[in-house]
Amino acid sequence: MRKLPRILIVEDEPAIAELIAVNLRHNGFQPIWVADGDMAQREISEVLPDAILLDWMLPGHSGLLLARRWRADPRTKAVPILMITARGDEPDKIAGLDAGADDYITKPFSTQELLARIRAVLRRRAPEQVADSVAIGELRLDAATHRVTHRAQPLKLGPTEYKLLHFLMKHSERVHSRGQLLDKIWGDHVYIEERTVDVHVKRLREALGDAGVMVETVRGAGYRLTSQPQSA
Ligand code: CA
Repeated sequence: MRKLPRILIVEDEPAIAELIAVNLRHNGFQPIWVADGDMAQREISEVLPDAILLDWMLPGHSGLLLARRWRADPRTKAVPILMITARGDEPDKIAGLDAGADDYITKPFSTQELLARIRAVLRRRAPEQVADSVAIGELRLDAATHRVTHRAQPLKLGPTEYKLLHFLMKHSERVHSRGQLLDKIWGDHVYIEERTVDVHVKRLREALGDAGVMVETVRGAGYRLTSQPQSA
């Protein structure tokens, strides 16, 4: 099952957000709508979107300020940002691009134009996303080659264990409940018992060998990947 590109819509006008969300959903994207910068920040710290549609005029932090902040943050700097602006002025467009937006679209826009621009920013960013790799301690995962190494020794992981490890490494030190892991790794539409997570965590630990202790069970809460395991 291919994962649908997750598009975060940051827009305070519900009517516009709803219209965009419906169109995205009908065209093979997974839209998530938030109405302001704080909500956007919370959503992004949970799950990194594939692209952000960012309204310029927002209550609280402006879209411009948010774009600048996300570009400066190593976690979000590679996520494409498409600014939505009601302004057609050249200086504003330039300010948006200077703040780190990949492109901008001026209201009112057609669905086709919006879709074309989203696809374009996703394509342009794709090589960087593919090349993304994570290292925690001496454990290293290279998303471009799907290779996992510990102390430079290659490890063999099944596809689900790989996805599980990738997620845990990208969100390390944080505790994830079984329900959250099911949701992020298996998707919302699959019915799987929470026990299944335990089975894959067990397999993952075995596949990791000495690094298996980095995957900790947090009693009553879930699992986390840590660079400083208690039992080591
Ligand atoms: Ca607005």
